[in-house]
Amino acid sequence: MGFASFPIWSPFKKKEPYSKELLLGMSKLPLFSDTIPLNLEVGEAFMEMQNAALKQGVFLEIVSGYRSYERQKSIWNRKYKSNELVGLSPQKNIKKIIEYSTLPGTSRHHWGTDVDIIDGSQIREGDVLVEEKFHDQGPYVKLKKWMDQHAEKFGFYLPYTQNPKRKGFYYEPWHYSYAPLAIPMLNSYLKLDLNKELLTSGLEGSNYLNAQFLAKYKTENILGIAKILKEF
Ligand SMILES: [Zn+2]
Repeated sequence: MGFASFPIWSPFKKKEPYSKELLLGMSKLPLFSDTIPLNLEVGEAFMEMQNAALKQGVFLEIVSGYRSYERQKSIWNRKYKSNELVGLSPQKNIKKIIEYSTLPGTSRHHWGTDVDIIDGSQIREGDVLVEEKFHDQGPYVKLKKWMDQHAEKFGFYLPYTQNPKRKGFYYEPWHYSYAPLAIPMLNSYLKLDLNKELLTSGLEGSNYLNAQFLAKYKTENILGIAKILKEF
């Protein structure tokens, strides 16, 4: 028993544009299920992939799926305050946060297309979303190998690859994006005026999140993803 050698999905133009609220994580997105909190279409594809992986002893367990703007805002503010406590300047603080976390309103998790996964068949200890656990003797090596071999057939790709030429967020071997929907959504997202949409009150360090910062963040972070996910 093998898998088909062609992708189950093929890229095609989706309905555009997507609403601003949807793109910024501010709409009520109907989710596939409690254990697969993703956009309905994405959840369907994820479940198929999950079933296939399970047959080979890998349990694709979702640590994080859809995330709202408000949720991302609380993550941002929590990290900012904790970095502040250890004495980081505002600039260093923000730089540190955006190693792994996004500015609220810019997370791919807002779209319901992106998912962080671990192997739920392994014993869970401490932080799970760490690079080491997906390499060498780590508990999620089997999952990584399975995903390397099969994820793309189901439409799932790593945006934050290990490619040293890629800028922006650090390598995230746990974060997958459902390309058939995430590609047209990014295309739509890029048409938003981020200077107008993002600078909201209630965000820690907001004085430093100026137009210059946002321009760099857009190029390096939002667009610092695998090339295939930018092929509109
Ligand atoms: Zn993620």
